[in-house]
Amino acid sequence: MNDIIQLLPDAIANQIAAGEVVQRPASALKELMENAVDAGATMVNVLVKEGGKNLIQVIDNGKGMSMTDARMSFERHATSKIRTSEDLFAIRTFGFRGEALASIAAVAQVEMKTRLRGEELGTMLQIEGSEVKKQEPIATQEGTSIAVKNLFFNVPARRNFLKSNAVEMKHIVEEFQRVALSYPEIGFTFMQNDMELFNLSPGKLSQRIVGISGRSFQNHLVACIEDTPHLNIKGYIGKPESAKKSRGDQYFFVNNRYIKNNYLHHAVVNSYEGLMASDMHPFYVLFLDIDPSHIDINVHPTKTEIKFDDERTVYGVVRSAVKQALGAHNVVPSLNFGLDVNFNETWDNNKVQSEKVGVENAYKPDTIGPENKYKTFQSPAFKKQAVSGWEKLFESGENLNMIKEIKAHVIEDQDDVLTFSSKANEDMGKLNEGRKSGTTFQVENNYIVAQMSSGLLIIDQQAAHERILYEKYTKQLTKAAGASQQCLFPQHIQLGQSDFALVMDILDELHSLGFVIEEFGKSTILIQGVPADIYVTNEKRLFEGLIDQFKHFKSELSLDNRENLARSLARRSSIKKGNVLAASEMETIVGQLFACQNPNYGLAGNKTFVKLDLPKIQSFFTR
Ligand code: ADP
Ligand code: MG
Repeated sequence: MNDIIQLLPDAIANQIAAGEVVQRPASALKELMENAVDAGATMVNVLVKEGGKNLIQVIDNGKGMSMTDARMSFERHATSKIRTSEDLFAIRTFGFRGEALASIAAVAQVEMKTRLRGEELGTMLQIEGSEVKKQEPIATQEGTSIAVKNLFFNVPARRNFLKSNAVEMKHIVEEFQRVALSYPEIGFTFMQNDMELFNLSPGKLSQRIVGISGRSFQNHLVACIEDTPHLNIKGYIGKPESAKKSRGDQYFFVNNRYIKNNYLHHAVVNSYEGLMASDMHPFYVLFLDIDPSHIDINVHPTKTEIKFDDERTVYGVVRSAVKQALGAHNVVPSLNFGLDVNFNETWDNNKVQSEKVGVENAYKPDTIGPENKYKTFQSPAFKKQAVSGWEKLFESGENLNMIKEIKAHVIEDQDDVLTFSSKANEDMGKLNEGRKSGTTFQVENNYIVAQMSSGLLIIDQQAAHERILYEKYTKQLTKAAGASQQCLFPQHIQLGQSDFALVMDILDELHSLGFVIEEFGKSTILIQGVPADIYVTNEKRLFEGLIDQFKHFKSELSLDNRENLARSLARRSSIKKGNVLAASEMETIVGQLFACQNPNYGLAGNKTFVKLDLPKIQSFFTR
């Protein structure tokens, strides 16, 4: 018998695999950067020479590798990221195939320096064409540095196939930008032949976009957010007028992984219909967050394609999110970096979908739900509160006449209390048959206009709602009276040490607000409940956002913890500019605002409302 089948030597098998994984310098860079991110780095430095043909080096401050792992990492199918086939369906890391380093080392000269966090000595490893040339302990900084030199040095056919340095460089920069965009919280630098091309400090997504795409983008970005049970979307789209003739600034990320998907691209472009010429390409950076079990990323080794199990729903949600963002874009002010600590601020907010896509999504927070609408108006408690509220205002002397006038209506002329038309107001309305009936409506989904018998009120919905929630949370904090809703699934949150210390420091206050939180091992907490009246789809995100906001205010405003917490939670859970409100919600906001101790001002000292009284209106028309 002449048996002729043999297993390929590893070096050759790796070279063949490399053909798939490493097509050009840019693919090597992508793999190295993703490994750095997977390793938990907060700072990643990239060096590239001659379009990556001479050198691609990535230096990170991530967790590093032990001596054995350093050697193992170059074996094919060697990975620390999955262990079982079930893990394949819950992939949250970039890597999982364990073939990137093996492939790169098969077709280049690689030098790795790595030191495990907490170890004294690190490891240096040199590999050329899968052959280990040198391995020795060295002193090196914590984290990992991998230098890939002379890519395809041993595969001349592929080396010759590479394009000019400029073209390879373009691909490299594209890969760099994709990774940098999806991790704004990580700092990145990029050196090309000793020249610094990018220096991106950690920050918010909006800052990262501007850092990558240029200052001119700052005024053209519109936040795009959608929360549904099936998937969440967040990101920015460009205003129609910023669309370009050429493609290139379109990014989809699914669970933070860059993907190309023409179907979803169509969903975005289609939403701009009628807003820009059909040959123009709008800018977008959209992050889709979806349960990994609903996608299959195992389709292609370079992993820019994925399959959704329900692509049509995803299409619908994307379209709806973009349409809604476009609808609101007139009122979205140009990005103000001071305003939100990061994108998540508006992420947990409530929103009413502009378009039904067959997904349960719309929500009304019950703080402004119809059931307690007007309770505030009709109950004696409200009147009492209102009086004290108004009296406060008298003291401050602010808007004295106006306040007097509104007060007169609220208190003395109760039947004519801010007459809004609404179902809940029907009883009152019947009593008042024949009297003036009012309307409440939104302008640009940003301002609530309410008619009163003596003029018009124009209310900034976000400022007003923040004021309402702030006073409510302040009260809960003094009385420890916040009700909780139980999380469907308790959430573990692993915190950094300083955040953990901070949470422990304000644990009592968090409990007072309605959070049910337990310490759960080292730097980890378990969230079992959140305040009852906040709508959340993601308790973890709400909590992390709250902590971020808290830290932000702390550094900006030196507030005491309670004050800060009330403000932070109000900021995070309030209605936002651009949210569509039902009539009943508007009325409740108006009612609750004027039941506040200090309805005049928002949390930043901004006005919550202005009034156009009759004399003022008349004055517009007198000559
Ligand atoms: P994968 O990322 O698919 O697991 P790779 O070949 O890219 O496969 O990497 C193999 C293993 O080497 C990783 O699972 C990880 O444990 C380790 N590794 C690679 N790069 C780094 C790095 N920059 N820092 C720490 N560990 C790393
Ligand atoms: Mg990898």
